[in-house]
Amino acid sequence: AREVHLVRRPHGFPDAQDFSLVERELPAPGAGEVEVANRAFSVDPYMRGRMNDVPSYVPPFQLNQAMDGRSVGEVTAVGSEVTDVAVGDLVLGNLAWRDRGIAKARHLQKVPDVSGVDPRAYLGVLGAPGLTAWVGLLDHASFTAGDAVFVSAAAGSVGSLVGQIAKQKGASLVVGSAGSAEKVSWLTGELGYDAAFNYKDGPVTEQLAKAMPDGLDVYFDNVGADHLEAAIAVANDNARVAACGAIAHYNDTDDDATPGPRNLFQIVKKRLRIQGFIVSDSLDRFPAFLEEVTPWVADGRVKFSETVVDGVEHSVEAFQGLLRGENTGKMLVKVG
Ligand code: NDP
Repeated sequence: AREVHLVRRPHGFPDAQDFSLVERELPAPGAGEVEVANRAFSVDPYMRGRMNDVPSYVPPFQLNQAMDGRSVGEVTAVGSEVTDVAVGDLVLGNLAWRDRGIAKARHLQKVPDVSGVDPRAYLGVLGAPGLTAWVGLLDHASFTAGDAVFVSAAAGSVGSLVGQIAKQKGASLVVGSAGSAEKVSWLTGELGYDAAFNYKDGPVTEQLAKAMPDGLDVYFDNVGADHLEAAIAVANDNARVAACGAIAHYNDTDDDATPGPRNLFQIVKKRLRIQGFIVSDSLDRFPAFLEEVTPWVADGRVKFSETVVDGVEHSVEAFQGLLRGENTGKMLVKVG
């Protein structure tokens, strides 16, 4: 099997030298274990945080061991005492950053068999990113019909869904920001965003104020920094912010930190509510999420995109590309 190990903790933007592709023989699956040949796995922004040796809501990756994350693959061998998974089953697991691996059968879920839905969708639109978009908007930002919604990193995996879910549920206006002209056209041309802008074209506050002259009621924050400052500036009284991510800060170092918002007093004056959340606290919402969103995906009302990098040997490039914005929709590594 081939797997990617973290061999040095990145300082700032992750370097290829921080990782190593390691080949090793897999043992036969033991009691309660199965062997899985991956078809695809996810690389995600939160993995950057796990590369630092600091306490967080998920433990840091260990040096000189395979990293992990969500994966979809086929069971190729089962050990003793495995009853509910069989050879040939397609399963979701935590075997990212490798082409094959051994997992405990109880840590795997069978891929739901829904016509018109590719198994890979459970790494993106119908997986953790989809649930993040849905609970962030509905539970944490308390979205209600008629709200005007702004989404940052709007052409990414989570962001591309947030705006579409808001539209399905009666938003009065949905505006997104993204890092290229192509992404901006995709948001307005394909996904039904009412307006979008390229944050690299000029100050975010100016561009946002122009796109939302009547203000915003909900901001879904994937970026932090200048985007959060702009949203606070443009927010209406009693607006809500779902603080989902702060990717502008993920490669910050002690001596080189991206500036944060300078207008925090507006939170008081405007009675804003900024609610941070972690999707893994909302796994009980997964069935309700799938029930609502699966039909939208199956009949094409909600669209999604994947940027697929081929081969476990290119996983680091996929991860670096994700941090640079080379993905439209979900960034995935395809295996085999
Ligand atoms: P995306 O698919 O959105 O990929 C990341 C995107 O971020 C890139 O494509 C890039 O697009 C954008 N980006 C990178 N750097 C910057 C920057 N400095 N300023 C603005 N945009 C930038 O990833 P996900 O959908 O998986 O995640 C989106 C956010 O949600 C992340 O912050 C992530 O950490 C967070 N998240 C939080 C969860 C939670 O439980 N709270 C769960 C899952 C995700 P562009 O070309 O537009 O710059």
